[in-house]
Amino acid sequence: MRKSVFSLLILVFFIISSTAGLTSCSRKPDAQITTFTSMNTYMTVKSYGKKAAAANKLVQDEIERLESILSTTIESSDVWKINNTNASEIQISAETAFLIEQGLYFYKNTDGAFNPALYPVIREWGFTTGDYKIPPEEKLLQLLDSTDFSAVKITDNSKIIRPVGLELDFGAIGKGYAGDCAIELLKQNKIESALLDFGGNIQVLGCKPDGSYWTVGIKNPWPDKIKGQEDLLPVVSIKIKNACMITSGGYERYFSGPDGHKFIHIFDSKTGCPVENNLASVTIICQSGLYGDALSTSLFVMGEEKAIDFWRQNPDFDFVIITNDQRIIYSASLDKSISLLFDFTSVQIIE
Ligand code: AMP
Ligand code: MG
Repeated sequence: MRKSVFSLLILVFFIISSTAGLTSCSRKPDAQITTFTSMNTYMTVKSYGKKAAAANKLVQDEIERLESILSTTIESSDVWKINNTNASEIQISAETAFLIEQGLYFYKNTDGAFNPALYPVIREWGFTTGDYKIPPEEKLLQLLDSTDFSAVKITDNSKIIRPVGLELDFGAIGKGYAGDCAIELLKQNKIESALLDFGGNIQVLGCKPDGSYWTVGIKNPWPDKIKGQEDLLPVVSIKIKNACMITSGGYERYFSGPDGHKFIHIFDSKTGCPVENNLASVTIICQSGLYGDALSTSLFVMGEEKAIDFWRQNPDFDFVIITNDQRIIYSASLDKSISLLFDFTSVQIIE
């Protein structure tokens, strides 16, 4: 009898201690999720760790700080100052100067496909107000005269020198740069696992808390063509860690002309018109948000063939191109991490 009571006590001890062990080892850390709207985008920061809530708040403050210097509409921003003065030399912050220098690098290396000086053209089409119109050709030609971004210079003490009339818009790299700043801030605050979703721009820090990779989707870029998929379900997923996955798509913002023709928000700097090609979306997977954001826009402007050629000359990133005729083209090193969730009409893997 004494022996069996003793055995029972030991059993109870083991059950209690192993249960306690189980809960302390396998309890999932809670995600801290912060959402806010900045840079005209609904943003989500999801991070894990004891200091996650405080770190998320710092990220929100940082993004709002960046918006206050890069916005085209906030009247005290560097960009607003540049766009609303007749002076040719304007003092700006070192950070804006850095972004302009980055812009000059991409303008040169993409043969002008990436051009942050298209703002007057984009405004003429009504994309800044939503009051859309198709401008006459003469007007576009006249506006294109002030879009030579190579004419911009940055001095050592962060002054921009530019031809009067040249106006800027960081819509194609601002969110990527903001994501880089946010990731840096999370790291400084000892966060090891986080996911940022800045409206089509996904940036992840580390792995998920359980050590597995993050699975990130590419939205259906032709929601109007597939019945039941109007809500942009993913057509592709990719497993990533410590990386950015940044998509530019014609479906994100566009208007339809009188005959139903779609005019998208990504512009061809040679014509001053919305890009017209067979691409539905371009996704870049790489280490830097700024790089990925600049390239997703640039490769979209280049179109299928030039984009693939560009990647062959600069293979330091991965890409997924989805076309309007429902083909998918992607760089070979994604083969292990990509899952196709849609029956594409053709799958082309580029080596
Ligand atoms: P994204 O969504 O990153 O491709 O950026 C698109 C935004 O960048 C547009 O809404 C415009 O504000 C701006 N943009 C449009 N065309 C270009 C271009 N060719 N180069 C740089 N920025 C552009
Ligand atoms: Mg971009």
